[in-house]
Amino acid sequence: MTTSAFYLDRLRTLLGDPLDDDHPFSFATAVKADLTGDSLDLQATALVESGFIRQIIPAHWKTGGELVDLEAVLEMARLLAGRNPSLMPRLMYSIGAITVLDLAGTEAQRKILSDWLLAGHSVALAVNEPGIRSDLINNQTKAERQGDWYVINGRKWLVGQAEKARALMVMAKTGAGGPAAFSLFLIDRQPQWESTLPHPRAELSGMRGIDVADVDIDVACVNVANRVGGEGEGIELVFRAESVIKLLSIGAMLGPCESALRLTYGEISKQANGGHPHQHFLLAGAYADYRIMDSVAKAAARFASFRPQHFPVAAAVAKQIAQEFSSRIFTSLMAALGARSVLAQEPVSAILQKLRRDGEVAQYMDINPQVNLGMLANQLPSLTKRRTKLEPGLADALFAQLQAELSPSSPCPAMVLAKVPMLNRAGEPLTDLLPGLAERFAKAASEQDSAVVDALHEAEARFASLEEGMAELLALRQGERPEAVNAGAQFARLYAVSCCALSALAEGGDALLPFMLQRLLAGDRYAFGGEDRFYQAAWHRLAEAMGAGEDVYGDERRHAAV
Ligand SMILES: Cc1cc2nc3c(=O)[nH]c(=O)nc-3n(C[C@H](O)[C@H](O)[C@H](O)COP(=O)(O)OP(=O)(O)OC[C@H]3O[C@@H](n4cnc5c(N)ncnc54)[C@H](O)[C@@H]3O)c2cc1C
Repeated sequence: MTTSAFYLDRLRTLLGDPLDDDHPFSFATAVKADLTGDSLDLQATALVESGFIRQIIPAHWKTGGELVDLEAVLEMARLLAGRNPSLMPRLMYSIGAITVLDLAGTEAQRKILSDWLLAGHSVALAVNEPGIRSDLINNQTKAERQGDWYVINGRKWLVGQAEKARALMVMAKTGAGGPAAFSLFLIDRQPQWESTLPHPRAELSGMRGIDVADVDIDVACVNVANRVGGEGEGIELVFRAESVIKLLSIGAMLGPCESALRLTYGEISKQANGGHPHQHFLLAGAYADYRIMDSVAKAAARFASFRPQHFPVAAAVAKQIAQEFSSRIFTSLMAALGARSVLAQEPVSAILQKLRRDGEVAQYMDINPQVNLGMLANQLPSLTKRRTKLEPGLADALFAQLQAELSPSSPCPAMVLAKVPMLNRAGEPLTDLLPGLAERFAKAASEQDSAVVDALHEAEARFASLEEGMAELLALRQGERPEAVNAGAQFARLYAVSCCALSALAEGGDALLPFMLQRLLAGDRYAFGGEDRFYQAAWHRLAEAMGAGEDVYGDERRHAAV
């Protein structure tokens, strides 16, 4: 058993039974904490004492950490957020600063950061500023060099851990203009607390009570030894780190969806006749959507180890799919519960409403979801250029290699963040394989399903017309191309088609795949595919999943507790 697998088991035990109302990690405690704005100190202390922090410090730093791959980070974020999404930022926000130091930090910087974290402190990443939108190039915070010191002044917007963080990783302007005018600095707040005062906490619609606020930086002094990376490398480092940070918000959407599915399944299946067939249909669709999110998120986490050069697109797609499909899942679950879903005093509805609001906030904790799509769309022309038609032999090799990399039975090797670029400069393998995927799938699958093969043909045709459409748009207009944002969303779904098909093959088949592909290719939520068998298969798989292994809500006692 790996160290992280061992820790994840310990974490599951610590989190305990979510339906034991008095337990500190129960759903009932989460709902109460949300109402009172409790800052979850009791829970944070228990998690720190269980060794949580060691799991987010890279093992290769040799500073006491045990983090080896991002699959474990995704799983920790999902587990915490599945209980109470507010725990995720409290325990995991420092991953932003950790990633930046993994990319460009000195040994001394990594040591001091590790010592702070292991002593129970956190470190904030303060990049955004009020009023500039996501155009970081317009940031105003300045760092002026005076001998061996920089003096920093400015204001940062919505900083996670603004009150509690021991240190701030701040982006500030060191040059005249353009993307190379910004640098990163690690400001230790302890000796100069007055120079980094937080504003009152931001009132959020979800994750109420979490420590997020603006911070005024007023004559903060940083020794040159605490500049991270070279002068002018700030924006590049932030964008490279952003791909890792996205996994936190993805985990904070996956966890709530999983818990909400389990709770709703528990409720519906104890209704008369085990629920109305349309309730089953809604839950089965939500389960297929969850499996799509899960498949794409896991692939992204694995790419940070297997193919870091392709990680930026993988993370951007996973964020988009998580954002789009988690909203859909909650809509379906609320519809299945009916009027009860809007009763604030109903225990299940109260939890669902909190999880939904928290998941919505999670979408904005890192990069704005539309900006994420815009950046994905901006990469499409260069991906198209690099999309040389693969020789059949090469395509066969890539087909086999990707299955091995996505297979849960292949251990995930160590992450290689130093090789993660800002953008995919070396093409994108999952969509490279779309042409011809239907034939390869048909040959490789043990059970033939014409619906899957037809869906893969459909995806290939849509991919060709998406690339043509992008080429036309580029020829039409230079500069801002707002419509391209929608192309990013379509690209994400087609990427997910390839990812889910290859993951299903890697797992030796998946009865849910036809339904997942149908949902990925459906134009709207009421699309009619003429295939009742899809949802029935999904309903049975959902029932199996809810009854299998880690059965937290299956038995009678727990049905009663809900
Ligand atoms: C709970 C929470 C925690 C946060 N923690 C931190 C933190 O720790 N550190 C930190 O630095 N920041 C943090 N933030 C800020 C967060 O990163 C913001 O999402 C970011 O500042 C962008 O602001 P915005 O979402 O308002 O997007 P804006 O950039 O203002 O975009 C608004 C809209 O404009 C359009 N738009 C703008 N630019 C583009 C584009 N390029 N392409 C396409 N459409 C575009 C889109 O329609 C978009 O939805 C946090 C935010 C929240 C809510």
